[in-house]
Amino acid sequence: MREMPTVKLPDGSQLEVAEGTTVAEVANRIGSRLAQAAVAARLSGKLVDLGTRLDAGAAYDLEILTDKSDQALSILRHSTAHVMAAAVRRLYGSAVRFGIGPSIEDGFYYDFDLAERIADEDLVKIETEMAKIIAERTPFQRETVALGEARQRMESDGQWCKVELLNDIASNPLRGGEQLADAEAKPEAAETVTLYRTGDFVDLCRGPHIPDAGRIPAFKLLSVAGSYWRGDSTRPMLQRIYGTAFFSKKALQEYLARLEEAKRRDHRRLGKELDLFSFHNEGPGFAFLHPNGVIVMNAILDFWREVHREAGYVEVRTPIILSEALWHRSGHWDNYREAMYFTQVDDQPFAVKPMNCPGGLLIYLDRPHSYREFPMRVAELGLVHRHEKSGVLHGLMRVRQFTQDDAHVFCLPEQLKAEVVRIIDLVDLVYRTFGFEDVRVELSTRPEHSIGTDAMWEHATGALREALEARGLKYKVNEGEGAFYAPKIDYHVRDCLGRSWQCGTIQVDLAMPERFDLTYTGSDNREHRPAMIHRAILGSIERFLGILIEHYGGDFPLWLAPLQAVVLPVSERFDAYAGQVLERLRRAGLRAEADLASDKVGAKIRSAIGRRIPYMLVVGEKEATADTVAVRDKALGDLGGETVEAFIGRAQTEIRERGLRPTAPARRG
Ligand SMILES: [Zn+2]
Ligand SMILES: [Zn+2]
Repeated sequence: MREMPTVKLPDGSQLEVAEGTTVAEVANRIGSRLAQAAVAARLSGKLVDLGTRLDAGAAYDLEILTDKSDQALSILRHSTAHVMAAAVRRLYGSAVRFGIGPSIEDGFYYDFDLAERIADEDLVKIETEMAKIIAERTPFQRETVALGEARQRMESDGQWCKVELLNDIASNPLRGGEQLADAEAKPEAAETVTLYRTGDFVDLCRGPHIPDAGRIPAFKLLSVAGSYWRGDSTRPMLQRIYGTAFFSKKALQEYLARLEEAKRRDHRRLGKELDLFSFHNEGPGFAFLHPNGVIVMNAILDFWREVHREAGYVEVRTPIILSEALWHRSGHWDNYREAMYFTQVDDQPFAVKPMNCPGGLLIYLDRPHSYREFPMRVAELGLVHRHEKSGVLHGLMRVRQFTQDDAHVFCLPEQLKAEVVRIIDLVDLVYRTFGFEDVRVELSTRPEHSIGTDAMWEHATGALREALEARGLKYKVNEGEGAFYAPKIDYHVRDCLGRSWQCGTIQVDLAMPERFDLTYTGSDNREHRPAMIHRAILGSIERFLGILIEHYGGDFPLWLAPLQAVVLPVSERFDAYAGQVLERLRRAGLRAEADLASDKVGAKIRSAIGRRIPYMLVVGEKEATADTVAVRDKALGDLGGETVEAFIGRAQTEIRERGLRPTAPARRG
């Protein structure tokens, strides 16, 4: 009779178990809590599956790895990569070839060779399929097969990556590498490899893995990117999906929040790199815009003013500091005091404005109004201060001082719907110009605690709803989530990183006209209350600038770019010609520079690309003789030679049309 295997545990205690007992069964004998928390094990120094059986006559050291161990987390993530591959296999069938899928810091990836492009939107689809595999508790089945058989199976399935890996193992079994077969095995065992099946996906892998997909508590796919097979740019480009997994939903959520945080920091990094803005301890939460930042900001404001003029708006400007009494009257004292800054003027209490409305209303009250003036569309790029807690300050995204692109529309109640439709059209024009296509609209209705009559709410909410429907906009209704004084429409803009930003708002105010006793003389020659709309499109311009920096990844469209073109002479012999070209560009209104450094032109191009300059104009002998420039587009590369006039024409057209740059948008994650 053969001797039973013995197991020595980390605490030094020993167990004798029956031959063929699995590691999972040993864990269960130690305690059911341990068995439940078990993910994999270290058996005499080697990481193994829980399903590994113990041989007769052997003496083992055994450490059960639970979800507390870092090693277990890597195993979970690598196992999730298998589940993702299984989901991709289900969705794309035999068209997909598999590269490798290791765990990495913070997550995992898998590389796929697939003709069809996997878009960011497809990740949701893949996640859904993964969730099914997890719900089905699909097991990880290990199989040891002869190397030749494994190759035959992979070959018949067209898995060229796996075949290549198997060939490598055959020629050098001890250098099989991380994702390959059983490299630690005894030399004679190099003739075999291990395969793991998850559903109908079979991988060449040495393991270990979790026992079944049901053991994945929380996962998320993060992004998709191109990746050369084996990191070699001469080999085929595969599609790499990144994801992550955790032992709890909470841990996943925390990670995603950190990731979000890192992404947010991105605009601060770019802000520094492109010399757009800075923050200083002397003014926490107050952005300092540098010359480049002011150029972008002014370009945004020029555009904003142009479309508002066309839409029939006038512009006002009201003071930043106003008496405290005004804020009592407006209701901000009661509802907004915590976020306001106060000061004294001539011993009287004053407040720094957190909103522009009360100032705008004082202008309205400055003289009587007639129904004939309506609708009155009055805009204000108002600088407001709101005290945000220092812990939530975040670059340009969360500041204490910002410019709001406010406007108030005063109109007859029966003009409300038509005015809201006009605002919707303006919002649409503005967002489209900046390249935001994915916009979510929400309508928030009367909350439980609110002022005003049923009839007022019904009329105001009806106007918003009918306007949305007149424009065929899909919208979500947030029942009872309006402000206590106003039903409202909110706009959420999705950027190229997949994040949603609340920017625009349209509110029909039921309180201010009463509080400020606004009136107009109607056609009946009597006094009436006007209807009043507050609206913003960009919201905070500083924050919008931050969103744009991240949305474009620093590559601004030509009309916004701080520097639009740079002239690059190939040697100092052409500095004079470069100077002439520069002069003509500047006279044509372009923001341009010449790079007269003694560097090679290749280095000058790299530097210009680093500075995100859209156009590089290379000049040498040929160009100086023919009065041309060799145009290089940062996004498209070489565009060939062009006369200086032709280039100026091209750039001016691109600026006038506020064209988006022909860059591929940054990928999610
Ligand atoms: Zn594996
Ligand atoms: Zn307002």
